Amino acid sequence: MQPIAVNWEKCKGCGLCLLACPVDVFRLNEHNKAVPVFADDCHVCHQCEDDCPTGAIHIAHTITSSRKASIYDQPGLDLTFVDWSAK
Ligand code: SF4
Ligand code: SF4
Repeated sequence: MQPIAVNWEKCKGCGLCLLACPVDVFRLNEHNKAVPVFADDCHVCHQCEDDCPTGAIHIAHTITSSRKASIYDQPGLDLTFVDWSAK
């Protein structure tokens, strides 16, 4: 299964998933269908699923520690100061 699946039968090209996604995963293709072109950047917030008015999106990603980098990361950014236990 794809980590981010878009059912193009249901997608009506409204673009709400492009607005919802905080890490800019989606683009609309030439047929006005949503495509998760930067799926590796997904951090599994499910906002696109929640905001899609037709239920076209299914997120099958699971959160893992395998994500090394994305175009939104600042190279070398030190995150060791973050107190994750406070979340
Ligand atoms: S929010 Fe849903 S219907 Fe709208 S473009 Fe995205 S996948 Fe298609
Ligand atoms: S789950 Fe969140 S980060 Fe992943 S594609 Fe949807 S809106 Fe973007």
